[in-house]
Amino acid sequence: NVVTRFAPSPTGMLHIGGARTALFNYLFARHHEGQFLLRIEDTDRARSTDEATAAIIEGMAWLGLDADAPPLLQSTREARHAEVAAEMLARGTAFKCYATQEELQARRDLGEQRRKEARAEGLSDDDRAALLAEANALLAPYRSPWRDGAPAPSPDAPYTVRLRAPDGGEMVVEDGVQGTVRVQASEIDDLIMLRADGTPTYMLAVVVDDHDMGITHVIRGDDHLRNTFRQIPIYEGMGWDVPAFSHVPMIHGPDGAKLSKRHGALSTLAYRDMGYLPEALNAYLLRLGWSHGDQEIFTQDEAIKVFDVSGIGKSPARLDLDKLGTINSHFLRQADDERLFGLLKPLLEASASLDAQQVQRVRAGLPHLKNRGATLPELAASFAFLTVQRPINLNKNARKALSAEGLDRLRGLRDELQRISQWTSDHVSETITSYCTAQDLSMGQIGQPLRAALTGGLPAPDIAPVLEWLGRDEALGRIDDQLV
Ligand code: GLU
Repeated sequence: NVVTRFAPSPTGMLHIGGARTALFNYLFARHHEGQFLLRIEDTDRARSTDEATAAIIEGMAWLGLDADAPPLLQSTREARHAEVAAEMLARGTAFKCYATQEELQARRDLGEQRRKEARAEGLSDDDRAALLAEANALLAPYRSPWRDGAPAPSPDAPYTVRLRAPDGGEMVVEDGVQGTVRVQASEIDDLIMLRADGTPTYMLAVVVDDHDMGITHVIRGDDHLRNTFRQIPIYEGMGWDVPAFSHVPMIHGPDGAKLSKRHGALSTLAYRDMGYLPEALNAYLLRLGWSHGDQEIFTQDEAIKVFDVSGIGKSPARLDLDKLGTINSHFLRQADDERLFGLLKPLLEASASLDAQQVQRVRAGLPHLKNRGATLPELAASFAFLTVQRPINLNKNARKALSAEGLDRLRGLRDELQRISQWTSDHVSETITSYCTAQDLSMGQIGQPLRAALTGGLPAPDIAPVLEWLGRDEALGRIDDQLV
């Protein structure tokens, strides 16, 4: 049984890199009919905020990445973390370390000092090598002098609980994305699991929580790859199964540099506010660093069917906002009319509220207009010609098209249109065609003034359907406004 999790630290918004990690975990769990869980890693009290937690939950809800249980707050589990540290002490896989902050600092200072001395001029090669070796030993991953069980300096001396890091040899991880990764055990430090005040460190908390939540697969950013080698000894120190790991490369900007503010919006919800659909952002994030054949656009159901970590690439993916626009247009075209209307309504109402007739016009045009934008605001702009109020404003081109000659033609056409019994785009179209034929006019000669009168120059598609969506009264009314 597969159990995955997304474990964000609530120190800021849900950024798109995090959203992609959540998506991968979600898809992997759904693909295997397993569980997807959410854990809020709020142990850094100074930097964690309730607002950030709320924003993460809101972002995931918007993307539809529903977890199978309420979010677990890591900060509620300190007692359990301490209990595990105590058990590792009992097992001898952890130990009490009485080294003080000052001693540790002094050691680092001495290491830096030796390194500096090794740069001095006039040293023999041997002396230099000796100084460097000493510096490296002092600055190497920390191995506490207390690991061999020396007695406490005093009965009430404060101590930290440290991991007894593996002593020698090589550690190997079979990573789902990175392949076989090896690290020398000597690079792993005797990391602190419990601080002197009894609070757990992040490294301990992650492992205990992943174990207790039954996590079988950890999919996370490759910035955590090194941590994995520090976390595995904690699992082993408790005799626990180690989950399978997949470390996903970061997202980079279009220029190949690490993603940052200057590459544009980083927050997931900013994409909602810019008018992207959640399924479009999901489909886009999915393809950012993951592929399956040459298919570009996946629905969530398709993605669940085929998702696997083996499709995740090894090199950083690059953000490509044009592609997001293309994918969003695709999903806007696919979107259910009712839903799209609900999303567009607040945008259309930004300037003035819609009356019942305007709503009707928008609804009539919607199935045909939903291919006319890459984002919701772009789409909303393409409805402007339907929602403007009479008498509508004319732009420069529209005024030109409504010259005396244009108006004459429009007057003639208006009388014909007036006679249409069933106001459909087909009948309108037939009427226009026969009027052109009778008057020996080209389509453009009548189409231009007609379009100008109906739209004032705002972008609009084919003219016959425009008359249908506007309805007889509004269409004839707009024409009459120009003929007076
Ligand atoms: N809380 C960590 C972060 O936000 C993730 C830890 C993990 O996935 O193991 O980067």
